[in-house]
Amino acid sequence: MKHFPIYLAVEGRKIVLSGGGAAALAKLRLLLKTEARIEVFAPNPAAEIVGWANESRLALHQREVTQADLTGAVLIYAADEDAFLDSRTATMATKTGIPANIVDNLADSAFITPAIVDRDPVTIAIGTEGAAPVLARALKADLEEHLSPRLGLLARAGRTFRSAADALPFGRARRDFWRDYFLGAGPRLADEAKAKDVLETLLTKHLSTETKEGHVAFVGAGPGDPELLTLKARKALDTADVVIHDRLVSAEILELVRREATILDVGKQGFGPSTAQDDINALIVEHGLKGAQVVRLKGGDATVFGRLDEEIEAVTAADISWHVVPGITAASASVAAIGQSLTRRGRNASVRFLTGHDMKGFADHDWRELAAPDQVAAIYMGKKAARFIQGRLLMHGALPDTPLTLVENASRHDQRVVSTTLAALPSDLADAALTGPALALLGLSPRAVSAPLSQPLVQEQA
Ligand code: SAH
Repeated sequence: MKHFPIYLAVEGRKIVLSGGGAAALAKLRLLLKTEARIEVFAPNPAAEIVGWANESRLALHQREVTQADLTGAVLIYAADEDAFLDSRTATMATKTGIPANIVDNLADSAFITPAIVDRDPVTIAIGTEGAAPVLARALKADLEEHLSPRLGLLARAGRTFRSAADALPFGRARRDFWRDYFLGAGPRLADEAKAKDVLETLLTKHLSTETKEGHVAFVGAGPGDPELLTLKARKALDTADVVIHDRLVSAEILELVRREATILDVGKQGFGPSTAQDDINALIVEHGLKGAQVVRLKGGDATVFGRLDEEIEAVTAADISWHVVPGITAASASVAAIGQSLTRRGRNASVRFLTGHDMKGFADHDWRELAAPDQVAAIYMGKKAARFIQGRLLMHGALPDTPLTLVENASRHDQRVVSTTLAALPSDLADAALTGPALALLGLSPRAVSAPLSQPLVQEQA
């Protein structure tokens, strides 16, 4: 971040703008939304500026700005669209130490004005440090569409009610009340004059509810791309008090967790392999018993190789309520990456999700069935077990040129696809030097690459 976004107090304070043309007009339209005292210096002001001056919305001086004019200002805009005049204004500003913005000159500006979504007192400032103004405008348009035009009104009504709401205990009780208002009862208001009544009814309801009990949501975080989170997962992250996540959950997703929530990483070292699960169970239960809304956040889908049952049993034993929010598992994200289906009419009527290893070591499977032609399997945690799996499959008669695709970091920006065959798997895997989570798709090759068709040379049987 080369620029730090802040909200500057401007009520009743002076903002100086030098310029009277199109750039000045554009800035003034924004500045007039504030409660600042605006002073414009322009020998030849546009008619609109004269109009605003006549309405006393700003003070207009039909001459060039001087050093003395800047005294007491909090911000200065150099908007003459003339390199000489603008740099003169900027030099004067530098002398006073007041930050100046030179329109269309990022390098010499002490601050920049963001794109603003205005639902006063709720405002959203969007900045790209000059890197992508088009993006800023698109984001603004998007937000304008999503945010109710009455958001400001709701916030203003809420502001006058803040001290009344202090009757609720600080913390979750109060937060829940405001959430219910801003996301529920508030937007449903038919008549704006009723805002106060609605707030009072809601407060009575919240004051009478007993203290809430803890709850655990087992949430699938998907393969890494935050856009592959379900809306329910987003909601759970928005309301969580405690988020307990594993190693596979991406940083971008953790960014979405409610700011006040406690985030606990149980994927890191420090939990020995044999005690890890017990420690995690204990941690979930501990927070649930304290009355927290706990989100147990797992990569992909929580029900796939996620040791979910052990955690559910621990939570149930402690008499804490729970529910599961499904997520997109790595197999789904990986086939999507290579444009293939997990099942296909006439090819495979079933698909297997396998793990390369389990707690006892390399996992055993029905190799003979898997070695048959046209089988499709998604192999999780298969990197270390690749050679073992290859050996077992070939021994049970699988074709050496059976296609196999490795998808590393599926759905993430650093996603990689390695297309290989059963025969070449160990060497291609070594060459690829994968460092992220990777899924092996047995029987599938990326759609763009057509798999070689050949007959088995030797049909081995075990
Ligand atoms: N519950 C998870 C799987 C946990 S097991 C799910 O549903 O996806 C961990 C294994 O999942 C990893 O070893 C890897 O094989 C696979 N995996 C998880 N996320 C992945 C990703 N983004 N890309 C590729 N494989 C992934």
